[in-house]
Amino acid sequence: MRLSRYFLPVLKETPSEAQIVSHRLMLRAGMIKQASAGIYSWLPLGYRVLRRIEQIVHEEQVRAGHIPMLMPTLQSADLWRESGRYEDYGEEMLRITDRHGRDMLYGPTNEELITDIFRGHVGSYKDLPLTLYHIQWKFRDEIRPRFGVMRGREFLMKDGYNFDIDKEAALHAYNRHLVSYLRTYERMGLQAIPMRADSGPIGGDDTHEFLVLAETGESEVFYDSAITDLRFGDRAVDYDSVTECQAVLEEFTSRYARTDETHDESVFHAQVPEERRRSARGIEVGQIFYFGTKYSEPMGAVVVNDRGERVPVHMGSHGIGVSRLLGAIIEASHDERGIIWPEGVTPFHAGIVNLKQGDPAADAACEGLYAALVAKGLEPLYDDRSERAGAKFATMDLIGLPWRVTVGPRGLEKGVVELTSRRTGESEEVSPEAAVERLVQIYDGKR
Ligand code: ATP
Ligand code: MG
Repeated sequence: MRLSRYFLPVLKETPSEAQIVSHRLMLRAGMIKQASAGIYSWLPLGYRVLRRIEQIVHEEQVRAGHIPMLMPTLQSADLWRESGRYEDYGEEMLRITDRHGRDMLYGPTNEELITDIFRGHVGSYKDLPLTLYHIQWKFRDEIRPRFGVMRGREFLMKDGYNFDIDKEAALHAYNRHLVSYLRTYERMGLQAIPMRADSGPIGGDDTHEFLVLAETGESEVFYDSAITDLRFGDRAVDYDSVTECQAVLEEFTSRYARTDETHDESVFHAQVPEERRRSARGIEVGQIFYFGTKYSEPMGAVVVNDRGERVPVHMGSHGIGVSRLLGAIIEASHDERGIIWPEGVTPFHAGIVNLKQGDPAADAACEGLYAALVAKGLEPLYDDRSERAGAKFATMDLIGLPWRVTVGPRGLEKGVVELTSRRTGESEEVSPEAAVERLVQIYDGKR
């Protein structure tokens, strides 16, 4: 993409309405624009990151054997009356009446709709296990939308639903989700810690929330500091193996880590030596639930088991806050000059800054770099505007591309360009070909 032809409305001023750094930076970097309270338009740069995050979520869900689909945003109230949640859900549910007087709602979650699909098409244990998921906009009429996309009213969520023959099989699905979520967040450059949580209006006994530690987080959390040393890394876990998934769950959840809803001071003290006890704030970026037959029973999602008996299926639901993740990643990765995108989610792989637009050698070198990167499947953002170098650097730093290639007539006389890491600020002088090679290596396996 050439910046002169792009739409990147960066703001010079710090927007006064934004209370936390991620919201400020998303507005300043021209990523989002508020449409109304808690509802945002995704401008091109923000949309790119949103799509990358979605892509990672899709890849990891499919890797775990889960099947993508798409359900609508608007749902019929009748289904929610069947589960009993139409009245229970309260004011967070946006209720709509259509022209025929039918009660509709903008889905805050999809347990009812997916259960309806399941009961209409699946009748035998032979069709299980089954996990379906989608990435779709949700609406919750939050009383206090704030912090930009972190607590929106309309927000993008991945929600997945497992259907299993019994509790044991459903708990394997739960563990499989835990493993896939650990991989997902790490690919985004995040450490998200599974913590024992409370189930809220979804219902159920087993549930973990995934929290990214950050001062601006809305949740209060208590944990054993040893948990922050755990890394999932690049291990190959067989998602069909009950023991392998169970082992990961035990490794990542056996140490004390709870949100304030389930925190128990006496257990905390008994389990964790004082020097490792931490209380902090965290951003909830996902949650997994096992809730058994809570929906299948009232809604009649029943299958015939191998003994010929009709039994309600055991279910769980599993959510990732796709749009909230942009805020969480920025909270975890920025400095005073702007965002620092982890390579896995960056909107462009590298910025090309032409120090002297109009200089034939510099222009030709930039065009060459641009074409070479594109040929390697990378997406550069080329700042080809006739701006001062300082302004170009400031824009690149603000929007947070992890790598910048700076091209100027003086370097070109020596046959070099400058490759700079946004995170460390370190630069090296290399030939344009070597810069391309380095970037290809850096992104190998990260696209
Ligand atoms: P919260 O406690 O933050 O209100 P929740 O527990 O009600 O969230 P879930 O039903 O678990 O939310 O939804 C799954 C994920 O969707 C959450 O972990 C969170 O990352 C994201 N999410 C929930 N509410 C919002 C919101 N208002 N804006 C943006 N993301 C949200
Ligand atoms: Mg939750």
